[in-house]
Amino acid sequence: MVTVEADPVHVESRLAAGTIGCPSCGDGVLGGWGYARARRIVGLGDRLRPRRARCRACSVTHVLLPVAVLLRRAYAAELIWAALTVRAEGGGHRRVAAVVGVPATTVRGWLRRMAERLEEVRSWFLGVAVVAGVDVTIPDTTGCRWRDVLSAVETAAAAVRSRFGPAGFVGAVTPVRVAVAASGGRLLAPGWPSAAPRPDATPVAPDAGGDDR
Ligand SMILES: [Zn+2]
Repeated sequence: MVTVEADPVHVESRLAAGTIGCPSCGDGVLGGWGYARARRIVGLGDRLRPRRARCRACSVTHVLLPVAVLLRRAYAAELIWAALTVRAEGGGHRRVAAVVGVPATTVRGWLRRMAERLEEVRSWFLGVAVVAGVDVTIPDTTGCRWRDVLSAVETAAAAVRSRFGPAGFVGAVTPVRVAVAASGGRLLAPGWPSAAPRPDATPVAPDAGGDDR
């Protein structure tokens, strides 16, 4: 799985130009290789039909997931991010669910998964900020670990923006896009984060469980 920009036209031109590197072998570049199963993502207008790509060197295939979605989540990343933001403002899962318009059981699943990894996620994004930025100021902790995570992601987004410009490497550089791209779509996937961020653009990792129910 490779995180790519939301604009499919741009993705096609990068596939044609051979500028998307293969995360499996590190040497080859990806070319178009059909499409993955179409899926409905709540919060995105059209059905999502992710592009599939194959490495011209090692022949491994990868699904290209746009930065608007997280791995195996049926809701747009913007909605999940909005939920995390309401939680950081002090809302419980029922209030979060009401604000973002998502079933409470689904929201509870997101929040539980995130609650298990708040400290690791904060560290990960501060690592991204330090790798991407210059003289990055690490934000002080606030006493609320949810708020601390959001501010770590905002710090990472500011660092990425300062390095790549406001258009960035996956489209407009917003905190939610940085959260998706820098986690390789695995923000809420099992086993993430497991190691320090890599210094290059978008980390990728094998698929894993954790579907929305
Ligand atoms: Zn390869």
